[in-house]
Amino acid sequence: MKKVLVLEDEAGIRSFVVINLKRSGYEPVEAATGMEALEQIKKNPDIKVALLDIMLPDIDGFEVCRRIRASDPKMGIIMLTARTQEMDKVTGLMTGADDYVTKPFSPTELTARIDALYRRLGPDENTDATEIVRGPFRLNTRNRTLEKNGDRIKLTQVEYSIIKLFMENPGKALSREDIMNAVWGRDYFGELKIVDVNIRRLRVKIEDDSTNPIYITTVWGYGYKWGF
Ligand code: CA
Repeated sequence: MKKVLVLEDEAGIRSFVVINLKRSGYEPVEAATGMEALEQIKKNPDIKVALLDIMLPDIDGFEVCRRIRASDPKMGIIMLTARTQEMDKVTGLMTGADDYVTKPFSPTELTARIDALYRRLGPDENTDATEIVRGPFRLNTRNRTLEKNGDRIKLTQVEYSIIKLFMENPGKALSREDIMNAVWGRDYFGELKIVDVNIRRLRVKIEDDSTNPIYITTVWGYGYKWGF
């Protein structure tokens, strides 16, 4: 069974999500507070995806996200954001979330997002090579790891998928739509902004100076390009 953590303090929303996840073949693990969520993750190491509400009675969803990321860069994390709080999306992604859904969301939309994260957790089927080397970077597609000058860089699943796409297409300008389709899938509902936020986060991790990027460069009005 594919376990999914559901952190949501409002019982009504939580049970709505839980019922729909069960219907889609997932095994939900419930938590009503941030601390309870962290406990459940410790108790259930096979949880691969976490849904995190932001406004909670104890620590907020961003803090839960940060703490999960500190020990598990590979966990798929989806933030549940309120429609009125536009900034929550960006903040959530900057603290390490892979995705967000805006309340009120449809069960179809939510399970599509979870399915997409679970798909990315699987092995890379389309690559024969197990290693791509470009400039100071070495990407191992079997272990899904990235090294820069021999030092491991911790990546989320989404970041890994983006960097792999870039390293497979050196020197080629990729539109934001290209990146979104390749990384999130063609059936993805989200906004293109999610691409920009992930690139911003990735630059902080891989560039010598993220304000003056040389590896992932911007192609104005179009998208991004891998420079090496
Ligand atoms: Ca709440």
